[in-house]
Amino acid sequence: MVAHVRPRKGSRGRCGRCGRRCAGYDRGEGRRRWRGLDLGTIKVFLEADAPRVACPEHGPTVVQVPWARHAARQTRAFEDTAAWLVTHTSKTAVGELLRVTWRTVGSIVTRVVGEARALRDPFDGLRRIGIDEISYKKGHRYLMVVVDHDTGRLVWAAPGHDKPTLAKFFDALGEDRCAQVRLVSADAAEWIGEMVRERCENATVCLDPFHIVSWATDALDVVRREVWNTARRAGVTGHAKDLKGARYALWKNPENLTARQRAKLAWVATLNGPLYRAYLLKEQLREVFSLRGAAGIALLDRWLAWASRCRIPAFVELARRIRKNRAGIDATLTHELSNALVESTNTKLRVLTRMAFGFADPEALIALALLDRGGYCPPLPGRAA
Ligand SMILES: [Zn+2]
Repeated sequence: MVAHVRPRKGSRGRCGRCGRRCAGYDRGEGRRRWRGLDLGTIKVFLEADAPRVACPEHGPTVVQVPWARHAARQTRAFEDTAAWLVTHTSKTAVGELLRVTWRTVGSIVTRVVGEARALRDPFDGLRRIGIDEISYKKGHRYLMVVVDHDTGRLVWAAPGHDKPTLAKFFDALGEDRCAQVRLVSADAAEWIGEMVRERCENATVCLDPFHIVSWATDALDVVRREVWNTARRAGVTGHAKDLKGARYALWKNPENLTARQRAKLAWVATLNGPLYRAYLLKEQLREVFSLRGAAGIALLDRWLAWASRCRIPAFVELARRIRKNRAGIDATLTHELSNALVESTNTKLRVLTRMAFGFADPEALIALALLDRGGYCPPLPGRAA
C-alpha cells in the first residue's frame, strides 16, 4: 500500500539536518518512498516529494519530513519499533517480523541513538564513572566503555583500548565536566589511572575489584601448572591428570562449585601443598572485597603479610603488585562503588557484541550497546508515557 503524503505547511522547507527554515535549492531526486509499519500483512509505504533546500550551515540538504528521520528509508514509527524490538527480542525475530536485513537494523539503531544523544546531553551530571574495556571478535578488537555509577547507564563507548581512544572521551566531556567527576573506577591498566589523574583533577581512582581478583586467579593458575608439570615430570601421571582437572574447582567461587568440584577441591586440600595455600590466598583476597570498608582494609593488610611470606613466587609477586596499586584498591574498599554494575554491563555488552555480528561497522555495535544499556530505547509508537 502506498500513501501519498506531504508535510503540513508549517513544517515545509526546513533543513533535514538542523530544522532551520531555508530557501529552496532544487527538486532533489524527485519522489521518495519510506517504509512504514505494516497494515496487517500488507507492506506500507509513504511517498512524497523530497526537494533540497539551501541551508546556510549544511549546504544543499534534503528537506525535513515529520514522519521520518533524516536520511532514513523507514518512517520514525517503523524505526522506533525496530529499536524497541532489538532490545526486547532476538536478532532473527526482528528481521523476520519487520522483513528487513540485520544491516538495516544496524543503521536504524545508529540513527535512533544519534538523535536521542543530540537531544539530551549524555554527560550531564557525571560524578562517579567506571572505565573499562571489553574485547570482542575473539579478543582481536576492543571497545572502551564508560558507565555512570549513579544511573547504572552506559554513557560512552568507542573502538580501541589505548590513550588516544580514552582521550576522546575526556575531550567530549570537556574541562568543566571533567572537574565535576569525583570517583573513577577503572581496571588496573596504569595508563588509565594516569590519564584520569591528568584530566580529572578532583577525582579519586578506584581499581576494579574484579580485575584485582582476576590477578589472583591468574597467579593461582601459574601455581597449578607448576605443580602439574612437577608431577608429570616425576612420572605421577594419574596425579598430574587429576591436577589438570582441578582447574575449575580452584577457579570458581566456592559457592558455585558442583559436588564433583567440591570433592576435587577437598582432594587438593589433602595434598596440603602450595596449590592449596595458593587457593586459600585467592579466596581470602576475594573476601577482602566482599568485606569492604575498614574491615576489608585490615584484612588486606593481613593478606599482604601472609602473601609476602608464603614462598609461592606467583603470590609474592602478586603481593608486590597489590602494594604498588594500594591507593586505588583502598579507594575501592572505602567508596563502595558498584563493581557489579560494571560487570553486568560487560556481560551484557559481550552478548550484544555477538548480536552485532554482521553490522558493517563498530559504530553500529556501539549504538546497539547505548540503545540497550544507555537508556535510549524508544517507547513503542503511540504508547509514549
Ligand atoms: Zn541545516
